[in-house]
Amino acid sequence: MSTPDDRPWPRPLPVPFENVLRWWVHSHTIPGKVYLVDLGAFGTNGECQCKNFACELAPLLARGITPRQAFEGELVTLKENKRPEDTLRCIHILDARSQFADDFARALVRQQEHEHCWTDTDEPTNP
Ligand SMILES: [Zn+2]
Repeated sequence: MSTPDDRPWPRPLPVPFENVLRWWVHSHTIPGKVYLVDLGAFGTNGECQCKNFACELAPLLARGITPRQAFEGELVTLKENKRPEDTLRCIHILDARSQFADDFARALVRQQEHEHCWTDTDEPTNP
């Protein structure tokens, strides 16, 4: 079974000391190249420093084009079997969103496990 860590390039990393929506994401084609991705930009569509996003996708977003309009109007070249709602997201934004979801889910599981520990009958009592 494939896991998120099976990918052939390093996983996205959150930008230290920034908000949780900003990530460093490795290029799939240029070894050592990383792009800054802001998942909160453009109404949570996300923004990336890569050439694909800057030259093809950002100008559409800046004009107010929605993913559906871009998809139905075939305004962009669709790659990687993208879902229609991801039409205006590059692969780096999708990588960051995937890692964000994985990290968020793990944090929720840890929180639920911690809460479970303290709701058992052996819950410590204050003296
Ligand atoms: Zn990108």
